[in-house]
Amino acid sequence: MAYIEFKNVSKDYEIGETTVKALKKINIEIEEKDFTTILGPSGSGKTTILNIIGALDDIKSGEVIIDGRIISKYNYKKLNKYRKEEIGFIFKNYPLMENLTVYENILLGKEVNKSKTDVNAIIKKVGLTRKKEYYPSGLSPLERQKVALARALCKNPKILLCDEITGSLDEKSAKQLLKLLQKISKEKEYTIIMATHNNDIAKISNKVITIKNGDAVNTKINKKPKSAGDIYD
Ligand code: ADP
Ligand code: MG
Repeated sequence: MAYIEFKNVSKDYEIGETTVKALKKINIEIEEKDFTTILGPSGSGKTTILNIIGALDDIKSGEVIIDGRIISKYNYKKLNKYRKEEIGFIFKNYPLMENLTVYENILLGKEVNKSKTDVNAIIKKVGLTRKKEYYPSGLSPLERQKVALARALCKNPKILLCDEITGSLDEKSAKQLLKLLQKISKEKEYTIIMATHNNDIAKISNKVITIKNGDAVNTKINKKPKSAGDIYD
């Protein structure tokens, strides 16, 4: 059994009189501590999948199984506990607390679930030691995303969800953030799931699940993932 399983999962969004079928009986399997990409064009259902794994959204039918537990049957309280203890989330333009320093912003992640993570070690891991006492306004877009990443890691999550995290970065910065993510993935501490519409970016992960119109149309294992330093070249 895979660590994360979607079994015939359907998800609808109701907008007034119309129903958008965001996921259509989709089946997905993601292995523990692996680095998996959800690849697909805009509107294909990537964010919906991440939100469901992160317990930010419910489903219409099917089953979502995380580490042997059917979380799609969890009540509100159990879902909150699961999200708090197991999920780290980052996305494009992740908001930071502008009146707190880099260190304090990152520390917030730790406080969410009282994890025993070494904050300074995480700050070092993402390469922000020199900027620890800076305020977000003094950071580049890349550094801001590194703060978001460090904050998520400070929670010591089991699952790290990354939704279009390079969406507002230039190519050089995107490459650097992805290099960092790839390096972290090799340490095999977290189950990393990255959503992107970019075929090139997908190549740096170990497994690529291609989504089209709310269904998984292909799954590919990258035996030799591309080095993040070589994308866009
Ligand atoms: P992606 O992340 O691949 O761009 P999404 O998961 O955001 O795709 O969206 C899948 C489909 O569901 C799209 O048609 C989108 O318009 C629709 N959708 C997503 N979120 C909502 C929402 N909160 N309300 C209504 N429709 C939504
Ligand atoms: Mg999206």
